[in-house]
Amino acid sequence: MGKADLHIHTALSDGMGTVSAVLEAASRTDLDIIAITDHDRVDGALEAVDLAPRYGISVIPGAEITTAEGHLVALYINRPIPPRLPLHDTVLRVAEQGGLCIVAHPMAPFLNSIKAPNLIWALADPLVAGTLVGLEVYNGGLPQLANNRRALVLGEKTGLAQVASSDSHLLWTIGMWATEFPGSSPADLRLALELRLTQPVIADRPFRFFTSWARGLLLRRAGIAYWSPEPRGGVILRRLSSI
Ligand SMILES: [Zn+2]
Ligand SMILES: [Zn+2]
Repeated sequence: MGKADLHIHTALSDGMGTVSAVLEAASRTDLDIIAITDHDRVDGALEAVDLAPRYGISVIPGAEITTAEGHLVALYINRPIPPRLPLHDTVLRVAEQGGLCIVAHPMAPFLNSIKAPNLIWALADPLVAGTLVGLEVYNGGLPQLANNRRALVLGEKTGLAQVASSDSHLLWTIGMWATEFPGSSPADLRLALELRLTQPVIADRPFRFFTSWARGLLLRRAGIAYWSPEPRGGVILRRLSSI
């Protein structure tokens, strides 16, 4: 089985590590694949694809797209997709690029999240259903475990491929929540998503408190963490660099 973390941010959006730092951190995990999914942009993801061979890890280019209904992870895309389009239209734009979509943190309060009725309505179109194939049944960036339980229920109801992702904004959370699939390559993962053969890997970790973007921001404001300026800078914490 291969292992992938399909929702990771870099400093090009609201993450705390450069593209190189994210790759460096990911290479120290047991992940075979990561997806770089900055908000509404793909430039960091494309840079990561180019740099990936140096780090011995595969990268799927993607983005977390802000649709009118909420956040949507798009994978296997090479061009940015405009934000704030309806969910239905956004998925069709991803389909034009040959990509796949995963619902990010469905129904999560306080985040811009797709709600169950909107998802079910969009999936009624076969063109959407052929591209929107997965759902995060566990998002590691959420402090509210109860929401992940509701997401799992929605995943079972819709029959979408079940995915667990770190939604990492901090280097040390990469791979803490991940998705297993038969095979090890991006092509194997794609097939597993389409055939609903993915397995979420949900390990409850004591670091959950530190995983959200808001807490990352607090660490930055407190001067404990910073955006690594070096091209290969893997260190983001001034005092806790061993974590
Ligand atoms: Zn999001
Ligand atoms: Zn995210």
